[in-house]
Parts: sequence; C-alpha cells; structure tokens
Amino acid sequence: MSETATFPGDKIASIEEYEAGYNTFDDGDMVRASTIGEKILDKTTRIARINHPKMLSIPKVGDIVIGTVAAVMSSMIAVSIDYINEKPTTSKVECVCSTRNIRRKNIALVNDIVTLKILNHLNGTIHATIDEPPLGVLFTKCRKCGGKVVPMRDAIKCTECSWIDERKLSTNFGNSNFFRLRE
Ligand SMILES: [Zn+2]
Repeated sequence: MSETATFPGDKIASIEEYEAGYNTFDDGDMVRASTIGEKILDKTTRIARINHPKMLSIPKVGDIVIGTVAAVMSSMIAVSIDYINEKPTTSKVECVCSTRNIRRKNIALVNDIVTLKILNHLNGTIHATIDEPPLGVLFTKCRKCGGKVVPMRDAIKCTECSWIDERKLSTNFGNSNFFRLRE
C-alpha cells in the first residue's frame, strides 16, 4: 500500500474540509478511518472515504465477469459475480444487466452461468451488458426437466426431453475451459 494507507482511527481530513464517507467517521473535529485501507479524498464532492482492500474485488468498467444468475426480472437480470477477468472472487458482489433490447423469450434463467461486461457504476449499483457475441449464457439446463442442453442454431435443445428453448448464448457456450475454471 502507498502513503495513502490508513489504519483504523487515523485522521484523514478535517471536518471543515471533508465530509465522512465510506469506512470513515466524524469525531466532531476530524474525519477518521474506521478500517484499514486506502485514503481517498474526493475534491469534487468533498467526501473523504477509505477503500477497504476487499473493495478491490469490485469489478471496474470494462472488466469481463462470470457469475451466477440470482434473479430474473422482466427487463433485467441480477448476477452474483464469481470471477472478475478470470480471477475468482469470494466477495459475492452483484451486478445488474438490462435485457430490454434483446429479443429472446428467455435471456437466462436463475442459476445459469453467464459472462458479462461491466458498463458503469451508478448510485452504488454495478451495471453490466450481455449484448455482445462473447457475452451471454455459458451454462444452462433444460427449463422443463433440468436435463443437459445442446446449442441448435440460435436456440438450445434438451438432450433428455427434446424441449427447444432460447437463451442469449455466449459464443463460448459449451467451452470446456470454463468448466475447468469452475473447479
Ligand atoms: Zn428437458
């Protein structure tokens, strides 16, 4: 860590200059760190905060993430992130991904494994996109019987019950490298 490294209780700014942000508290005179981490003084918002080392596992704009679909809503999916740029992460950060512009009956189902690209961070929410050929579902099962599915043109077909369904598949769908990644 650099010279901006802090320890709990360290004075990081005067309350006249900065407001206490994430991982800091105001002791009535000074803004102090409440955790170990990196001191960030935002001159625009006048907010002092500490980036905890664990926060480094939050994906940055442009990062490619792999995660598990946690929820499917009418125009977006929520994904619990397992990998950032192929490195495992245990922080269980969630991102949301708009599916409004994708014309498919099903984009992804809960518990599908998907790969997404991080678009931005807005109001504390991480937004990602699925709308590029390598992005999309890497692993899914049959919605009817839970059987193994195989890609069929733009769709998938269950090898057990022959049910044909749609997903936004990644061009890497079925790529075995990904399964090694999961172990
Ligand atoms: Zn099936």
